[in-house]
Amino acid sequence: MSQSGQPAQRGQAAQYVDQYVVIGNPIAHSKSPAIHARFASQTRQSMRYERLLAPIDGFAATVDNFRLAGGKGANITVPFKLEAFALATQLTARARLAGAVNTLKFDGQQIFGDNTDGVGLVRDIVNNAGVSLQHKRILLLGAGGAARGVLLPLLSEQPAELVIANRTLLRAQQLVALAREHGSGEVMLSASGWSQLSGKFDVIINATSASLQDEVPPVAASLFDHSTLAYDMMYGASMTAFLRFAHAQGAQLRDGLGMLVEQAAESFVLWRAVRPETSAVLAELRQQLDTQ
Ligand code: NDP
Repeated sequence: MSQSGQPAQRGQAAQYVDQYVVIGNPIAHSKSPAIHARFASQTRQSMRYERLLAPIDGFAATVDNFRLAGGKGANITVPFKLEAFALATQLTARARLAGAVNTLKFDGQQIFGDNTDGVGLVRDIVNNAGVSLQHKRILLLGAGGAARGVLLPLLSEQPAELVIANRTLLRAQQLVALAREHGSGEVMLSASGWSQLSGKFDVIINATSASLQDEVPPVAASLFDHSTLAYDMMYGASMTAFLRFAHAQGAQLRDGLGMLVEQAAESFVLWRAVRPETSAVLAELRQQLDTQ
C-alpha cells in the first residue's frame, strides 16, 4: 500500500484481492498485519492487509483515497480513533458509547464504524484467562479513551459492581454519567479517587497510560489478593509497573496482548463473517515478545 492510499500494484491478481489496512501515525510498529495474515491463512480468506501511514492532518483524505480505490475496511489506531468516529455514517452502540472507532467497513457510500477494543478485552478475560465477570466486583483504573472504549462490553457481562477510579475524579464521574445514560442495568456503578477505594476487587483493570512512564496508579495493596485478576491493557517484553505491584500482592496477572489479538479477531469477523481461532496467534506473538 502506498502512502497515498492507492492499492499497491503487484500484478493483476492483487486488484481482485480484498484490501484492508491499519491506519495510524506512527504505524511502522503495528502488529496488526501479522495478526490478520495469520487469521486469513487459517480461515482461507483471500485478502490483503497492510499498514497505511496517514499524515496527522490528512486522516479523512487517506481513508477516502483507500475507500474509493476499492478498499474494504480499516483498523484505526492512535491518534485517529476520534476522527474515525466522526467519519462513520453508521455506528454500533458500543462505538457510540466509546466515542471512538477502531474498525471501519466500507460498503458503497456507507462507512460503518465499530469499536472492538472492549469486546476484545472481555473475550481475553473470559475466554482466554477463564475468568467470568458476572456478579464480580471490578475496578477500572483510568477514564481516558481506553477506559471509555471498554465500558459497555464490561457492563454487558453483568458484574455486581464497577468502580471507575481516575487521577482526575471529574473524568471518572463523567464516564459514570455516560454509562448510566446508555443504561447500566443492575450494575452498581460509581466513580472514585485513588484514596477512597476500599475492599477487595475480583478484577482490577489498568486502563491508564501510567505504565508508559513505568508508574503505578497509587492504589492500596489491600485492594488485591491472590484471587484478584490484575489486567494491564499495555503489553511489552517486560512486566509493567502495575503488574509488578500486583504480583507483589500475590494477584493473578495478565497483560494486554490478548486484548490486541481479540480486538483484531472481532474486526475480522465484522469484515469476513468468519471467526478466526486466536490461541495459536496469541502464543506466537507472546513468543516473539519474549525473545525480543
Ligand atoms: P488517554 O490519554 O486517553 O488516557 C490516559 C489515562 O491515564 C487517563 O485516565 C489519565 O488520567 C491516566 N494517567 C495518565 N498518566 C497517569 C499516571 N502517571 N498515573 C495515573 N493515571 C495516569 O489514553 P488511552 O486511554 O487511549 O490509553 C491508555 C492505555 O491503554 C495505554 O497504555 C494504551 O497503550 C492502552 N491500550 C491498549 C489496547 C490493547 O489493545 N491492548 C487498546 C487501547 C489502549 P487523567 O484523566 O487524570 O489525565
